Amino acid sequence: MEFLKELEGKRFHDRLNEIKMTTTTTTATPMKKRRSVWVSGPVIVGAGPSGLAVGACLQEKGISSVILERANCIASLWQLKTYDRLRLHLPKKFCELPLMPFPAHFPTYPMKQQFVSYLEDYAAKFNLNPQFNETVVSAEFDKTVGFWRVKTNGLKEDFEYICRWLIVATGENAEEVVPEIEGSDEFVGPIVHTSLYKSGKIYSGKKVLVVGCGNSGMEVCLDLCNYNAMPSLVVRDTVHVLPRELMGKSTFGLSMWLLKWLPVRIVDRLLLVLTWLILGNTSQIGLSRPDLGPLELKGITGKTPVLDVGTLAKIRAGDIKVYPSVKRLTRTSVEFIDGRMEDFDAIIMATGYKSNVPCWLKDKDLFSEKNGLPWKPFPNGWKGENGLYSVGFTKKGLLGSSMDARKIAQDIEEYWKADELKHLCTFTRHSQL
Ligand SMILES: Cc1cc2nc3c(=O)[nH]c(=O)nc-3n(C[C@H](O)[C@H](O)[C@H](O)COP(=O)(O)OP(=O)(O)OC[C@H]3O[C@@H](n4cnc5c(N)ncnc54)[C@H](O)[C@@H]3O)c2cc1C
Repeated sequence: MEFLKELEGKRFHDRLNEIKMTTTTTTATPMKKRRSVWVSGPVIVGAGPSGLAVGACLQEKGISSVILERANCIASLWQLKTYDRLRLHLPKKFCELPLMPFPAHFPTYPMKQQFVSYLEDYAAKFNLNPQFNETVVSAEFDKTVGFWRVKTNGLKEDFEYICRWLIVATGENAEEVVPEIEGSDEFVGPIVHTSLYKSGKIYSGKKVLVVGCGNSGMEVCLDLCNYNAMPSLVVRDTVHVLPRELMGKSTFGLSMWLLKWLPVRIVDRLLLVLTWLILGNTSQIGLSRPDLGPLELKGITGKTPVLDVGTLAKIRAGDIKVYPSVKRLTRTSVEFIDGRMEDFDAIIMATGYKSNVPCWLKDKDLFSEKNGLPWKPFPNGWKGENGLYSVGFTKKGLLGSSMDARKIAQDIEEYWKADELKHLCTFTRHSQL
């Protein structure tokens, strides 16, 4: 079966990843020597949009940084772990990084290839050259010397970077989350995370169960329909689905504008009334709404509303079936908690990602060990003690990354200038002696 061959090795990708993560947290193997490198500027961990944004803001202030990236390219989430049909979910004006707008000819919702080419141009413009294939396995503040010690495992060599400033930019989506489901080992078809899903081509004619109804799960279902697969969607929780555009404006842009004048609850009401006029009652098709409105819920829990790009119409047309939680898997079928049982050829886990910061950062004051996110919510989670910073952990997408990046660069610049002044004074004193 071609379809199964292509997916061979992708099964339980997440578990393999976890193992990779734990093996990389061990110290250097006896064969490899760890070389120490002194870095006069900040060390940035992660070359995604957030790492690049802060690197560029620093560069603009004349401060060079070292960017460490475990993958072999920038923006590895976008280049290696996303599906082909992906576009930015939000309009480009809310997604551009500091100091460089998107090209004017890009569409309102750039395609992933366009976004990646923008990031490549961005890195080139600000002369950002990340050290690829270097996984940070531990970072610890050494109180005796007053510097950070950042250990990496590389392909050929392992390093220890010693620096004054450490910027965490490893993202909210560093590791795939795959929940344990009873009977997973028994199920004969492939079970893959969305990070391995490229397009519905190989699923053509197959019955596919997509577990999870966030933006990715909904979009994967739509993509499967477009390739003549037969998708079903597991909707475990309540969910806010909003149209991507309302009254000719992006729903996100309209919400931001309304929030300038009105309290969040009123804006939520307005959004839900307009949504109802366009999408109708979603609970009739198995997608019940939470009690809290979409923006209030996002503010309290960080849960992002789903922006519909056509999946609801497919559900209404019966092209996508909706099921409740999975109870267990058997060899070829899935039993749901309402007792229904259905055969499937493959399962796609659209079950999200998590931060990996607790695996390698020894400091516990800025980031929570539980979820790997800053303890303090936006806008106060960007700075810790001893020159430690976080960028891109705001639950506010690329807009949040840009805001963090500017603040961090400004903060470091103050220390940098003070240091320069100190050196200048010392130099002048010495030359006068
Ligand atoms: C499918 C999808 C669509 C999205 N669409 C939008 C959108 O339209 N608009 C928006 O604003 N936001 C969007 N987001 C949310 C967010 O903006 C993106 O996830 C964005 O990529 C976050 O950038 P980042 O640099 O913080 O994290 P990432 O892009 O995840 O980059 C982190 C980098 O750190 C590296 N790394 C991780 N651990 C280590 C380590 N131990 N050592 C070295 N390197 C490490 C990773 O390999 C990665 O390259 C989307 C997210 C997803 C998943």
